[in-house]
Amino acid sequence: MALGYAALALLGLQFLLTARFKLIALPFGIDLVYYVHRYLAIGGLALVTAHAALVAVRQPALAGLGAWPEPHVVAGIGAWALWSGLVLAALLRRQTRQHYDAWRRLHAAAAVLAYGAALWHVWASGRYLESTVDRALFAVSAGGWLALLAWVRAVRPAWVARRPWRVDSVHAETERVWSIAVVPVGHGGLRFQPGQFAWVTVRRSPWSMREHPFSIASSAERPARLEFTVKERGDFTRSVRRLAVGERVWIDAPYGCFSVDRHPAAPRFVFIAGGVGIAPILSMLRTLADRRDPRPLLLIYANDALAGAAHLAELLALSDRLDLRVVPVIKDPPPDWTGERGYVTRDLLERCLPRETRAAEYFLCGPPPMTEAVESALGELGVSPWRIRTELFDLV
Ligand SMILES: Cc1cc2nc3c(=O)[nH]c(=O)nc-3n(C[C@H](O)[C@H](O)[C@H](O)COP(=O)(O)OP(=O)(O)OC[C@H]3O[C@@H](n4cnc5c(N)ncnc54)[C@H](O)[C@@H]3O)c2cc1C
Repeated sequence: MALGYAALALLGLQFLLTARFKLIALPFGIDLVYYVHRYLAIGGLALVTAHAALVAVRQPALAGLGAWPEPHVVAGIGAWALWSGLVLAALLRRQTRQHYDAWRRLHAAAAVLAYGAALWHVWASGRYLESTVDRALFAVSAGGWLALLAWVRAVRPAWVARRPWRVDSVHAETERVWSIAVVPVGHGGLRFQPGQFAWVTVRRSPWSMREHPFSIASSAERPARLEFTVKERGDFTRSVRRLAVGERVWIDAPYGCFSVDRHPAAPRFVFIAGGVGIAPILSMLRTLADRRDPRPLLLIYANDALAGAAHLAELLALSDRLDLRVVPVIKDPPPDWTGERGYVTRDLLERCLPRETRAAEYFLCGPPPMTEAVESALGELGVSPWRIRTELFDLV
């Protein structure tokens, strides 16, 4: 029974973790919160499986074995089956090629059903819920969960719906990278820290659960015009080129803790970006330029091809307004290329990093293989992991 209650607590915690409460996500970053979500869900499944197995072995009658099970036992088995399906589907999402949006909606619906069934299973079985106090506590926690659902699915979208935005411009940065600018309709815009991201919904209502996360690429000093840099990857990102000026956009933001503003005392910053990972870093550089920040900055910007390096001309020009050195790294450069080539390796870092390597704050954003390789190379060069911030564009 204790295992069952522990599993119930873990399952309930999942809703809190994914409710986008800034207080929970801010100290760790949203990607870490989602990792914890994943591992707690697996841990919870192990607990509930052990609970079911123990009851089945020690008290088969209670588990409904040998006779037609009571409804609350069916609810318990249903919750366990749903939870197992949820975990399996999430772990195998890529291998089974499930469409992200469809998977996400099914995931949310199955989680609500599983938790509802688990609550009813516990309530109806009445174990350890004999006293009025126990029952009252249980009712309060179940009520808290319902309130959380109402907040996530009804109240927050309603708040987003009250602050609409419209598309102001759409233009190609490279063949597959687009800049989208949006402006507020009837409100003052958005206060955010440079490097934070937004959940963006287009052509759907804010209640549709069809939102995509994108880093805000514009300056935090210009809250009345947000810009996003979007790389074509799947259905949604391939459709942004067809956005029409004036079209309605919904924005739930700001989120994330990948920002220079969280390190006001840092003496210098080093940014390492790969491909569209430049988006949050561009926001930080644009903001620092608007603020005339005097601190020394280094940007290492890796791309497969020179033609694919979005915003490179603007980044180079920012050196006029900032103490900024830009090092473009091109994997397959044109024949006349005299700059860095290949990947961001330990050798390259050793060559480019300032002598005061240890005192800088590092911001990494790019494909996971790149960020992993750069993190370990920085470690070998003596940079403390506490000074390295990474933003991953993959939540699951
Ligand atoms: C914090 C954060 C910031 C990001 N910033 C940028 C950015 O500035 N520019 C940019 O081009 N991309 C960014 N991304 C990635 C971007 O969200 C995905 O590329 C986009 O959602 C893919 O959608 P799709 O339908 O085009 O592709 P799909 O083929 O449907 O999805 C490709 C992958 O993107 C992820 N994904 C898809 N839909 C969602 C969703 N609704 N919510 C979360 N993840 C999803 C999944 O891992 C999926 O496997 C960011 C992601 C995160 C988590």
